[in-house]
Order: sequence, then structure tokens, then C-alpha cells
Amino acid sequence: MFQDSHRIPRRTKIIFTVGPATDSEEMLEKLIGEHFVDICRINMAHANHDYVRTVVRRIRKIGERINRHIPIMMDVKGPEIRTGDVEAPIELKPGEIFDFTIKPGGADGKPSNNEEIRSVDVNYAELINDVDVGSVVLVDNGLIRLEVLEKQDARIRCKVIIAGELTSRRHINLPGVKVNLPALTEKDRNDTRVGIEEGVDFYALSFVRESSDLQLLRDFLDENGAHRSLIIAKIEDQSAITNLYSIVQDCDGLMVARGDLGIECPFQTLPTIQRKAVKACLSLGKPVIIATHMLESMINSPMPTRAEVSDVANAVLEEADCVMLSGETTVGKYPTECVEAITKISTEVDINGQKTGYANNLSLDSDKRKIQHSAVVMANELNAVAIICFTRSGNMAKGVSALRPENSPIFAFSNSHDTIKQLRLNHGVIPFEMIFCTEPDATVSKAMKHLKKMGYLVPGDKVVVVSDILAADSVIDSIQLRTVSHD
Ligand code: PEP
Repeated sequence: MFQDSHRIPRRTKIIFTVGPATDSEEMLEKLIGEHFVDICRINMAHANHDYVRTVVRRIRKIGERINRHIPIMMDVKGPEIRTGDVEAPIELKPGEIFDFTIKPGGADGKPSNNEEIRSVDVNYAELINDVDVGSVVLVDNGLIRLEVLEKQDARIRCKVIIAGELTSRRHINLPGVKVNLPALTEKDRNDTRVGIEEGVDFYALSFVRESSDLQLLRDFLDENGAHRSLIIAKIEDQSAITNLYSIVQDCDGLMVARGDLGIECPFQTLPTIQRKAVKACLSLGKPVIIATHMLESMINSPMPTRAEVSDVANAVLEEADCVMLSGETTVGKYPTECVEAITKISTEVDINGQKTGYANNLSLDSDKRKIQHSAVVMANELNAVAIICFTRSGNMAKGVSALRPENSPIFAFSNSHDTIKQLRLNHGVIPFEMIFCTEPDATVSKAMKHLKKMGYLVPGDKVVVVSDILAADSVIDSIQLRTVSHD
């Protein structure tokens, strides 16, 4: 069950969101060192800069201590509209007339004028121009539904259709409305600056609507010297679905952010959107993450529901690179049980499940891809116990992973610390940091010895070795079949 000490490691990667339930040194060490989570996500909707600094440093310290380094993904909020603070929760009633105020004031939930109409402030002044009379306004993950009746000076007058309790800083969704907020807000820039200072590895950009949104973040990272950081595009609304293909082309990875997607799009369309997104990513060789409500009931229960087991299994059958935990690990009572549940489901489905096979659509449009493909075919045909890959930048291992070998885990060796961390995102890749020897054969022997010591290989196992860096001063692509020796 434990990834790094098992002959058949879990191939679907696990991203956990850090929060009060998991941010202690003890719990982080347990998750990283005993349950083998792959990536830590910090959600900037909730985290402040001090928290980011503390958690990143804590994870780095643990990584040094136990020699297992995981990447950190900062989830920046992008163009998000939120209600302001309220002094006390506002209990909205069905049919009630309620105002969203554009200027500060009236944010206390008290009557905003002598008509006794209650109101709340919003953080986005242009909202009044973006909505039309008749538009639907959803608040708090779609739990509260209002309809716009009229627009006044600095006030949007609505009628409550589905009532609920309105508390402070609730997220507002406007299904089908193209919001004119910038793709990268001032808050995102400030958050990202802290991420860069702390050496965060990945940035997940929320509400990516078109591929040019990604370029804004890319430019910002480049200007600030973080050109190796990866950008994950979070698709969360209808514009992202319309522009899916170009977004996948231009991102380093995609997150199917089902929380907001299920509000911005009719919920019954979610399974087909997920399929379409996974298929697009696998066809273009990009990593894909399935996020939100994977094991929601495990926030309060040590066991998943049967439907959740099937949902996780579905992501594994689709061969998504990662599944992500949110509330389950930020505030849930059973974070380690969640990781164990995913490991059990993923391992079982990997052995006995019939995969969708979307990686077969990947076009072999370069010599590198053809070499990677040959290595994977060889491993599949010979039922190799593993594919061993030597890679400086990580591209060789990412390419092999994109082809989804049938049974062989991919052991990737790199002399770059950053590459090792990045490769934790990719399906089926187990990365190791290693100094390469000048003699290619010595490098291979060193790697095989390490894998034997870890219990992944035993004498007599057949492995496929693929590399483009085996020679000291020249690049030679090679694929080899090796049998693990006794020495
Ligand atoms: C989501 O909406 O599914 C998601 C992952 O984003 P957030 O947690 O920021 O709402």
C-alpha cells in the first residue's frame, strides 16, 4: 500500500490541499513519508503570506529530513467575485428583494435604505456592467440563487429564488457571463511574488478562460526569474470549455476544477466535460488533475461512499495523472485514510480495470516521441517489470508517462532537484535524484542497484532502459533491454 516500498507502486498521483487538519509538522511528515502523497496544494483563497512561508519551509525541512521532496502548488485565485464581510449571517428568505452594492457601505446586512431592503457589498465594481436584468447570480457554491430584477446607480437589485444563509466573503458565480475581471489580479501577483520567493514549484491559475490568460502568468513568472515553474490551468467555466483545446496546448497541466464547473455549467454535463478534458490532455501529452469532491464524505467519515469509490476509479480508468483532495485534507477528520483509500482504489483498478486508452491518440510527431513510443511498446510486449529513464530536464520521463505503459512503472533518475519534484505530477513516474557517472553503464548499474535496494526490482526482472543522456559529452538516444543481475 505504501508507494515507495511496494513492487507495484500507485500510478495515479495524489495532490492534497494543506489546511488546519494537515499543516502540523507531524501530520505533514506522516502524509509525505508514510502515505506518499505527491504534491501539496496551498489554496490562496484561504492562506495568507505568513502561512505560505511557514508551510513551504516546513515541507522543505521534512523533505531534507526524510529525503523525500515533493513539489508545492500555489493555487492563485484569478478573477473571483466575492461578497464582503457581514456582521452577522443574513438569513435570506424565498422571494425576498436583496441588493448587491457596488460601493462600500451597506455591507452589514442591515436594511440599505428606507425600503427596508437588505444588502451586501461585492469586491468587483464592474459587476453592474457584466450582469443583465434576468441574469442568475449564484452565491456560496451555488447554494443561494438570485435573479437580477434591475440595475441602479451602484446597486444590483435581485430577487431571492433559492434561499439560504449568507455569511462573509462568499464566492459569487455568474453562469454563462463573461466577467471582465483581469485574468491575473493584483492579489494574484502579490501571492505569486511570495511563492517565487519561497521557491513554489507549480502555480494553478483559477478561472482560466482562454489561453492568453496563461501567458499573463507566464510573463510574470519569467520577469521574476521563475521560468522553470509549471502553470496548471484550472478550467472552471463555460468559456474554458469553449477554448479547451488551446488552453491544453498552452498549459503545463490542466485541472478539472469540478467545484466551480458544477456551478457554472449544468451539473449533468460534468462527467462528459471531465471525459473531454482528460481526452484532450492525453491526446496532447499534458498532465491532467481531477479535483473536488473525490472523497467529500470522508471529511467526517473514515470510509468512502460507494459512489466516491466509483468516482475515484473512473479517474483512474481515464488514466488522469492526479486526483486532488481539498476539504478532505484541509479540515477533514481522516486525511491519511483518504490517501489510503485512493491508493487502494487506484492499485486495484490499475491491475484489474479496463482503461479508456486515450493516450493512444497521442501523435508521434517527433523523433523523441517515436523513441519513447518504442520503449513503451517494448516494455508492454516483454511485460517488463519497469521502465528506467535517465533524464535531466524531465522531458524523456514525461514523454514516456504520456504514452501510459500498460504495466511498467517508470523509474526516472535525474541529477536535477527541480526535475525530481516536477515529475511527481506525471502518471506512473517515480523520480529519484542521482549524480550521473561518466561511464553510461555505471549509471545504469547504479540505478538498478538502488531500485533493488528499495525492493522494486529483484534478480531476473526484465527492465527497459531509455535515455538520451547516457554519454558524458554527447547526446545519444538509446533503448536497452536489461535483466536485473544478482550482484
Ligand atoms: C474547484 O472549483 O473545483 C476548485 C478546485 O477550485 P477552488 O477550490 O479554488 O474553488
